[in-house]
Amino acid sequence: MKSSLRPLSRLLPKGVIRFDPATLQANSSDAWMASSLPEAVAFPRNTTQVSKILAYANRHRIPVTSRGSGRGYVGGCVPVRGGLVLSLVKMNRILEISPQDGIAVVEPGVITAKLASAATRRNLFYPPDPASLKESSIGGNIATNAGGPRCLKYGVTRHYVLGLEVVLQDGTIVRLGGRTHKNRTGFDLVGLFTGSEGMLGIITQATLRLIPLPPARSALLAEFSSISKAAAGVQKILGSGLLPSALEIADPFTLAAARRVIPNAPRANSLLIVEFDGQPASVKAELSLASKLLRPSTSHLKVATGEQACEKLWEIRRGFSYALRDTGLVKLNEDVTVPRGRILDLFCLTSRLQKKYRIPISSFGHAGDGNIHVNLMAPVGTRHDDPKMHRILNDLFRGVLAMGGAISGEHGIGLAKRPWWPDATSSALREIHRKIKKALDPKNLLNPGKYLD
Ligand SMILES: Cc1cc2nc3c(=O)[nH]c(=O)nc-3n(C[C@H](O)[C@H](O)[C@H](O)COP(=O)(O)OP(=O)(O)OC[C@H]3O[C@@H](n4cnc5c(N)ncnc54)[C@H](O)[C@@H]3O)c2cc1C
Repeated sequence: MKSSLRPLSRLLPKGVIRFDPATLQANSSDAWMASSLPEAVAFPRNTTQVSKILAYANRHRIPVTSRGSGRGYVGGCVPVRGGLVLSLVKMNRILEISPQDGIAVVEPGVITAKLASAATRRNLFYPPDPASLKESSIGGNIATNAGGPRCLKYGVTRHYVLGLEVVLQDGTIVRLGGRTHKNRTGFDLVGLFTGSEGMLGIITQATLRLIPLPPARSALLAEFSSISKAAAGVQKILGSGLLPSALEIADPFTLAAARRVIPNAPRANSLLIVEFDGQPASVKAELSLASKLLRPSTSHLKVATGEQACEKLWEIRRGFSYALRDTGLVKLNEDVTVPRGRILDLFCLTSRLQKKYRIPISSFGHAGDGNIHVNLMAPVGTRHDDPKMHRILNDLFRGVLAMGGAISGEHGIGLAKRPWWPDATSSALREIHRKIKKALDPKNLLNPGKYLD
């Protein structure tokens, strides 16, 4: 394989194709547990180079695994079939921000938080906010259709993708959609490529929708003596006609881990974070109504008014994943989703699993969407193919599917959830996926070895 990749490096500027062991190692894994070395890593600087690389890979039947920041949670960018890792990190320019058209044009390697800040400076708003936003790339966010706390009010990444430039498996460059906010020309191919986990084409440019920056934001942190009181709070808020920009929940294990490393982490059993944004007067009124609704059941209510105070509060929430990692245990992060009315049932299920398998489980996340991060906290040294973990996940996913839920709300299927892909889909649905994959990647060279194989 190496011999068939060496000539490729001679077709491209020096440094684009790298074979050194440190680079191969650094591009062999993501934030999940699997790892596999590629034969080489490509760092293209532009779309033409991506096209050249794919045309070459097509001719020589070389597997190509695309990679953004490598912060995925399902092993999506792990090159399980070797070949070439196509890293988009060097294509990281914000090409345009147009307040007139309400759009940004970006290369895929732009870090999400960088785009969000650049938009804010122009009084514009890019809402998708995965907790990894300081590390993950726009290309990775689009390829996984990433979500975040603000999905409740603003929707997921897909709702902000107006246009894409994609390089297909044989090197053909195609542009989908564009800078208009509506476009009904043909099938929704922008939607098809969004969330396609690098298996249908390489995203080399994106035109993203920006909306006016809400002038005010305020948040509540409500502490509760039990998770059932916190879950009841979710229904109270949404049942009252309020639509917060975020509505997050956290359980006792998560908060105990947070207290070890995050200054100001609450000393509570469970919590809700409820944020509102919009015009100052409406934010004030909505916050006041939410406080009134929660006050009878909460043990403590903290209000954060304005950008800085809210961000300080979100530092606690965004620190949860990192705090769990710092426990030293192995965190198996699942992102299951249940219909919103079943959140308490989901917490009851995880509580039963903790007892049955004698394993700590941390659960927190986007209560307003019914999308909860259920983290199995496994002993040090646990591998992703551990039979006990597999049994626990079997019980978890079956329980979630029985509630009418989904095995992934944000991270995708990738490698991590591949064993449960058949449980979560009908044979007709799997057949449609296979046919689409075959039409766009007949030689199965784009990100092979993942859930469609
Ligand atoms: C601490 C932490 C918190 C997180 N919080 C969230 C969260 O709140 N919400 C959420 O949705 N996710 C979250 N994630 C998961 C992860 O950050 C997202 O899946 C993110 O979108 C991955 O982006 P990336 O640039 O790291 O992509 P990578 O991990 O590099 O790749 C992810 C997938 O996208 C494909 N891909 C990458 N770039 C391209 C491209 N240009 N063209 C085609 N395919 C491509 C890869 O092949 C792979 O299948 C979190 C992860 C961590 C570590």
